[in-house]
Amino acid sequence: MSLRSWYKRLRRRRIHVADGDWAEALARTPCAQALPDRERRRLRELAGQFLASKRFEGTAGFEIDASVRAVVAAKACLPVLHLGLDFYAGWSDIVVYPGDFRVHDEYMDEAGVVHRETRDLCGQSLSQGPMVLSWAAIEEESESIDRDLVIHECAHKLDVLNGPADGFPPLHAGMSARAWSDVFTKAYERFGEQVEQDDETGLDPYGASDPAEFFAVASETFFTAPGLIRDDFPDVYAQLARFYRLDTYALLGDVG
Ligand SMILES: [Zn+2]
Repeated sequence: MSLRSWYKRLRRRRIHVADGDWAEALARTPCAQALPDRERRRLRELAGQFLASKRFEGTAGFEIDASVRAVVAAKACLPVLHLGLDFYAGWSDIVVYPGDFRVHDEYMDEAGVVHRETRDLCGQSLSQGPMVLSWAAIEEESESIDRDLVIHECAHKLDVLNGPADGFPPLHAGMSARAWSDVFTKAYERFGEQVEQDDETGLDPYGASDPAEFFAVASETFFTAPGLIRDDFPDVYAQLARFYRLDTYALLGDVG
């Protein structure tokens, strides 16, 4: 690293998160609230750096204020608390709608036929593009114990760091790619069967849509109600704890 970039990094910009906004963000993010003091302070620092490096845009009449920024930053920084903000390099915009938003997708099938579909979403993360969020969905989460839209979308951002969204983020040194694949493939298949048979599941059935959604839903549950995933898929829990370098069950225990 050159002296200049070292100096730049040393003076990395940070936006101060006011006490009231931070308290509100923690109240909406029980896992962050449960962190030991030192790690919670680190999270606040990271949130300040996150805010300095991302651009927020309110759309369809939604106005971004300091409280919205703090809530999104606290939630977004939790998964990278022990990974670092470099894991969120390569994209910079966060677009917030007041409620669900409509997207028009176009894709070509194997026969070369172009299909168009319209979907209503509460969140979306395109690989290099913005993270798009519905504020209503974030507000509604206070009613549930295992939902966190921001963390869900952030998991997608981590997933696409090393290629297409497939539920396989870049693993750390010492982690086994084979073990990750085995554990997640088996769990995804078993989960798909449970959902198909209408069995009661601890995870959001949306996770059965594809391996990328399974990873995002599993991550979301890992940070909100870790007991649910630890009970149903202990091996998945163990892999996620190694990847996020956090034992969320030790912090939160059984929720709900
Ligand atoms: Zn998703």
